[in-house]
Amino acid sequence: ATPMSIAVASGQGARHGILIKNGAVLETLSRVSHVVFDKTGTLTEGRMQLHEVAAHGIGEQELLGMAASVERYSEHTIARAVVDEAEERKIEWRSLDVTDFESEPGLGVAARVAGRPVIIGTRVWLDRHSITAVEALDERVRELEKAGITCVHMAFRGREVGIIAVADRLRSDAAALVASLRAAGIRMTLLTGDRRRVAEATAGQLGGMGVMAEVLPRDKDRVIGELQARGECVAMVGDGVNDAPALIRADVGIAVGSGTDVSIECADIVLMSDELEKVRLATMLSRRTLRTIR
Ligand code: ADP
Ligand code: MG
Repeated sequence: ATPMSIAVASGQGARHGILIKNGAVLETLSRVSHVVFDKTGTLTEGRMQLHEVAAHGIGEQELLGMAASVERYSEHTIARAVVDEAEERKIEWRSLDVTDFESEPGLGVAARVAGRPVIIGTRVWLDRHSITAVEALDERVRELEKAGITCVHMAFRGREVGIIAVADRLRSDAAALVASLRAAGIRMTLLTGDRRRVAEATAGQLGGMGVMAEVLPRDKDRVIGELQARGECVAMVGDGVNDAPALIRADVGIAVGSGTDVSIECADIVLMSDELEKVRLATMLSRRTLRTIR
């Protein structure tokens, strides 16, 4: 594309809230064959709400109180849902004494509450702390996950004491975007740290797409590399929470609004307001730019 047509396209983009940080990317965008979507915060709104708590061997209030006292130190959207729920139920959790907080991206959190160990996160995170699974809880987890609901496990003093189920809403324009990309012959993959069953339920609600689930944040860019090795020209759409390396590795990195500063830094295109529909607009803009100069 000529500098002039790129400037024109960039100007049009800016008016629609699309910030094109690098003009050369418009040409690449028109060649994209595969779009990889982050799930939480990109295809979904990223505002988890507590769906249910299942306690095992302790009270629900006690479980939520301890969970909130630990999760207050985490920035994850799941953490916010837990704290909000404890507040709503007027549980007295602020006076609990929390020490040794630790957070592992894509897995969960751990701390001591009144000196006793609390671990919250994925099954893998509990396995890593040698916590045995409780079959009665796992049955419920399977049901919830099939409905697209994310479940986190909690252990207290070395035993699993329950699950906290949280749900997020699909963005209102996600299905339309996926349908129009599919109609344009573009392949799509949902990439997430969440469980396979949850990811498949989400993909199903959007009419179906490939799923790469239970991928740790540090491995997300590797998935992009594997697609590229198969000859795909890849656009990655993310909110930048945990996916900055993938945005960089992709042929085109698209950050959706409310993204973190780091994602804006790493992306080629930034969608200022968080409307997914703009992914399509950006693609159209690039095709038009190329047509003008051919
Ligand atoms: P995503 O790819 O959907 O953005 P993440 O990689 O952030 O997901 O997290 C993957 C999983 O790790 C979550 O579904 C959850 O089970 C667990 N997890 C991460 N952070 C926390 C936390 N603060 N509290 C509980 N669970 C967590
Ligand atoms: Mg995300």
